[in-house]
Amino acid sequence: MAKEDYYELLGVEKTASAEEMKKAYRKKAVQYHPDKNPGNKEAEEMFKKVSHAYEVLSDADKRAAYDRYGPAAFDGSGGAPRGPGGMGGGGGGGFHDPFDIFREVFGQQGGGGGGGGIFAERFGGGQRDGGGRDGADLRYDLEITLEEAARGVEKEISFRKNMACERCDGSGAEPGSRRVTCPTCRGAGQIRRSGGIITFTQTCPTCAGAGTKVDKPCTNCRGEGRVAKSTKLNVRIPPGVDTGSRLRSSGNGEAGMAGGAAGDLYIVLSVKEHELFERQGEDLFCEIPIKFTLATLGGPIEVPTLFGKASLKIPAGTQSSTTFRLRGKGMPSLRGGAQGDQLVRVQVEVPQSLTSEQRRILEEFAKVSGDAAEPTSKSFFEKAKKFF
Ligand SMILES: [Zn+2]
Ligand SMILES: [Zn+2]
Repeated sequence: MAKEDYYELLGVEKTASAEEMKKAYRKKAVQYHPDKNPGNKEAEEMFKKVSHAYEVLSDADKRAAYDRYGPAAFDGSGGAPRGPGGMGGGGGGGFHDPFDIFREVFGQQGGGGGGGGIFAERFGGGQRDGGGRDGADLRYDLEITLEEAARGVEKEISFRKNMACERCDGSGAEPGSRRVTCPTCRGAGQIRRSGGIITFTQTCPTCAGAGTKVDKPCTNCRGEGRVAKSTKLNVRIPPGVDTGSRLRSSGNGEAGMAGGAAGDLYIVLSVKEHELFERQGEDLFCEIPIKFTLATLGGPIEVPTLFGKASLKIPAGTQSSTTFRLRGKGMPSLRGGAQGDQLVRVQVEVPQSLTSEQRRILEEFAKVSGDAAEPTSKSFFEKAKKFF
């Protein structure tokens, strides 16, 4: 692997913040990801390089070591010879799977946890070690009702996450402590080890190559810079969301370690099934039984909608399964388009028992209509004749 400048690989300035670096990395990762470039060896190589560069630069201590020693401190070839078996995972650095962070951005997996989870979980589930690393993105599953989805709602959610330690302000250093030269490597960032005849150097395990460490780690977080705590958050859910809608709350994921940037919180919504309404995109669908007399004679009925009662005029002679449209009584559009409609399908109910008076009147009706002689309608009879 040719030596390349890690900052150049990511396309950022040497002074870039953790957040800028994360953004730049995500962009490059998307561009070169093997899934997007099947069979493209060059892209695969770039993806590896970019991932490696980000691994190093996203870690405050490793970044410090890189700034001092250059890529030789990390890439396992060149200047600083690595020990036997240094191939896998790059030796003492302990790099994790380069796909890990990528999964976090796009991953929808990570254990659904069913509806209405009152817990947050890591999106990617990455193993996080070392200092200065960014916090994980979190996923929170939230179930809401159809009414809430229609009108929008504000919800308070509570969950546990790693938050910046208050004692050390997330730095991992005990208040009043100083950065001192690492006693293990005496500031070199590397240590020499003797393996029989061969002597090899290794990244210092105490300071992860930085050459310095704080003299007193924070007593509250043991130097990690963050502690697990319960937290509450108010979430505003806009009208029109549907099952699978994701809301992102920037910086409300887990705190980074020892000064790393915080992750994001993703709220994944699911909308409960409704007793009356079935949702089809932005339209709502419901079925309403009406009396056969109303269907015959016509008249107004009251129809429930998500926004209160509405009046619907049933025309005389309405057949069963006729669908009526109530404009603008459906779901609001999440993208600011027109509000959906409510579709009402009527089912004509035939009485299952009659009083003697009802029977008498209906028999009279049948006689006047000539129904006894022609029990099916004329038009049907005409069609059916072809098959006899
Ligand atoms: Zn602390
Ligand atoms: Zn050291």
